[in-house]
Amino acid sequence: MTKKPASPPADDAVVVRDLLKVFNRGKPNQVDALVDVQLTVRRGEFVSLIGPSGCGKSTLLRLIADLIQPTQGSVIVNGKPAHQARLDQDYGMAFQQSGLFEWRTVARNIELPLELKGWDKTRRRARSREMLELVKLPDFAGHMPWQLSGGMQQRVAIARALAAHPPLLLMDEPFGALDEMTREHMQAELLRICSETGTTVVFVTHSIPEAVYLADRVVVMSPRPGRITRIVEVGMGRDRTELTREATDFFDRVTDVREALRGAELGAQARGIEDR
Ligand code: ADP
Ligand code: MG
Repeated sequence: MTKKPASPPADDAVVVRDLLKVFNRGKPNQVDALVDVQLTVRRGEFVSLIGPSGCGKSTLLRLIADLIQPTQGSVIVNGKPAHQARLDQDYGMAFQQSGLFEWRTVARNIELPLELKGWDKTRRRARSREMLELVKLPDFAGHMPWQLSGGMQQRVAIARALAAHPPLLLMDEPFGALDEMTREHMQAELLRICSETGTTVVFVTHSIPEAVYLADRVVVMSPRPGRITRIVEVGMGRDRTELTREATDFFDRVTDVREALRGAELGAQARGIEDR
């Protein structure tokens, strides 16, 4: 083969091209999860992925993370194939369940990815202390996860995901299990952490206000098979405060996303009728 894919410009954190994902291909339980997905995430950008349940949001995130393989198409992370980016630990992940190990202290949970990288104990301790400062839990290093509230556990999970300073953070509904007040607080904290660290984020949610509040761009997906039907530019700058949630621009973008979701649903229904 002589044709080489054009290498992406260095300022792109994620480049997804012509992505197709089919589960159980050719079997009676075949699922066409993602079709013709094209997505570029610029370095330092915050992108929210939103769409109805089952539209393939987690699948897309898992493909970017190289936890599963595309049926067709390519995923480039930091200018290299997703597989190489995983080997290089170029990204951290956080999920709805914090996934902390119950038998490890908070500090030792945060240090886990550093242990895997072979960092010595002194360096690990110093970094976990630094990360606990960053997520505003400096006094909890020696606590066990069950001694923390849900919001605090998610902070620890974020600290762990960022401990090795990955340039990319992949988050799958990380605040989905939190109450509304805690959730809004965590959103503000996440924005602060990202601006302090310069981390690129791909954030899956099914909350429209959450998607808009956090993101530079909101990627709207259609019901299964998931496609990207629209990308809403939020365009409100990065300095978001509690007042942002009451701003006219914010409500306008929330309306844009809601209408895009409705449009995607109607489009999928129309395709369903054509297919019959
Ligand atoms: P979302 O995160 O948007 O709710 P998912 O990405 O989890 O959706 O799933 C998209 C579709 O792919 C769903 O129909 C789901 O059942 C299916 N799916 C996801 N993972 C697998 C798998 N490992 N095997 C078979 N089907 C799967
Ligand atoms: Mg999901």
